[in-house]
Amino acid sequence: MPQQLPGPSPTLVRFWGVRGSLPSPGPATLRYGGNTTCIEVRTGGELIVIDAGSGIRPLGESLLAEHAGTPIALTLLHSHAHWDHIQGFPFFTPAYVPGTRIRIVGGHPTAADLRGVFTDQMDGQRWFPLPFERLAATITFDHLDLAGDLRFRVGEVAVTACPTNHPGGSLGFRIETAQGAIVFLSDHETGGPDESRIREFIAGAALLIADAQYDASEIQTRRGWGHGCVDEVMALAGGSDIGRVVLFHHDPSHNDAFLDQLVAQARARAGRDHPGMIVEAAREGDAIEL
Ligand SMILES: [Zn+2]
Ligand SMILES: [Zn+2]
Repeated sequence: MPQQLPGPSPTLVRFWGVRGSLPSPGPATLRYGGNTTCIEVRTGGELIVIDAGSGIRPLGESLLAEHAGTPIALTLLHSHAHWDHIQGFPFFTPAYVPGTRIRIVGGHPTAADLRGVFTDQMDGQRWFPLPFERLAATITFDHLDLAGDLRFRVGEVAVTACPTNHPGGSLGFRIETAQGAIVFLSDHETGGPDESRIREFIAGAALLIADAQYDASEIQTRRGWGHGCVDEVMALAGGSDIGRVVLFHHDPSHNDAFLDQLVAQARARAGRDHPGMIVEAAREGDAIEL
């Protein structure tokens, strides 16, 4: 009797850290959240984590509770080494648990650089009291050659990386799921010279998580800082057949009321130019099921 193939399991995207630059806790950021970049993606039987900002700490606690002593295995897609994308890793408790397996995929000039990003900040002295060697998990590093093929697999899940327009370089990731593509495009300054390449990279995505740190007036004095402007993000998404846009990498100075306004502006623009496109701002703790 032929084996029955299981139907496509749902894909889940959960936001653990949505803030850019610096954690921003406090009453002014309660609704959208103050932790820096960390996103959990579950698809094709895989657990994928994007970046290790301070949001990875509560993710770690949640995984330990869920697994209740059984081993945790995950792939960490690492965009770049800026603080807000690595600072949570020393506080990711599963990394201290024997039996945990963590595969880190990222692109730096060399494989040693990729490893160094994680080991240097855990030097056991100046930057952090415990050395990297104290982590009991099996941690492997997959270095992407930025001049080569940036397609790879996480289990059966196809992923493509793409360099973004960001000082020092950063990577976006496109994850193909049975429910459509999820594109992570944080730490990307819109309107750069490579925008056509980015358009190709995000084309047709079911879900675009996009750096929209600034509004149209803020971007005027922040060109070259490597972050997106909400109007430009909406224009980019609108021209790329995107189903759902999630504004991301919120500025530490933007309180909940400001972010409400930013979303309203983006929705008004989408409603006018791209009816049918869902627009929202990433909120810590929210989960999207595709
Ligand atoms: Zn950042
Ligand atoms: Zn950055």
